[in-house]
Amino acid sequence: MTLRERIDQVETRIQNAAARAGRSRESITLIAVTKKFSAEVVREAYDLGMRVFGENYVQEFSTKQPELADLSEAHFHLIGHLQSNKSRMATQLFQTIQTVDSVRLAQRLQEACVEGNSTLNVMIEVKLSVEEAKFGATPEQLAELKDAIQACPNLKLDGLMTMPPWSDNPEETRPYFRKLATLADQFGLMQLSMGMSHDLEAAIEEGATHVRIGTALFGPRPKPLA
Ligand SMILES: *Cc1c(COP(=O)(O)O)cnc(C)c1O
Repeated sequence: MTLRERIDQVETRIQNAAARAGRSRESITLIAVTKKFSAEVVREAYDLGMRVFGENYVQEFSTKQPELADLSEAHFHLIGHLQSNKSRMATQLFQTIQTVDSVRLAQRLQEACVEGNSTLNVMIEVKLSVEEAKFGATPEQLAELKDAIQACPNLKLDGLMTMPPWSDNPEETRPYFRKLATLADQFGLMQLSMGMSHDLEAAIEEGATHVRIGTALFGPRPKPLA
């Protein structure tokens, strides 16, 4: 299948799920997850109409970004864990960081934005399964973290993101999606980044505003060269 056909297929899935949930297609942003793929693949997707991209690694994206600087309508979201010592580089590369999970990281990002005279959209990564998730703020930490981010003048808090424990059965991840939606509602946050290639329907039915799709668009990720 070509990339064009895969994009059409994902688009149809999103539209069908939105229709089932009584939601508008416009309320959902498709994030093309391009980690491990080359800058040429990002460009190809851009030329086919993709505008929002998700990358996991600051270092990896810093090598691709110079080749993509002319894609004037592209937005890049960091969806992988961010170490605070890479905060400055991250603020230079990404328009949105979805994985803020500590007050300390928020403060580092704020400082980096002040230095660079920039602003940044952020989401809080929430860990809903304490046993299985490595990163993310717990629901108990959310109130404090939200207040800390909202006290940072250069950061704009958009919503919540989560990465549920892996299951190939979307019905097993649905309760996590529902829980994230409940938390966002409770904290007055509008955006919900949840749902990947195999469970985007469940995520959209539970209120996702951003779905992060890699494999269904680009196929299996290339293995690193030795
Ligand atoms: C890789 C990744 C995705 C995309 O996963 P697919 O199953 O390939 O669609 C989404 N979100 C995060 C945080 C990822 O790391």
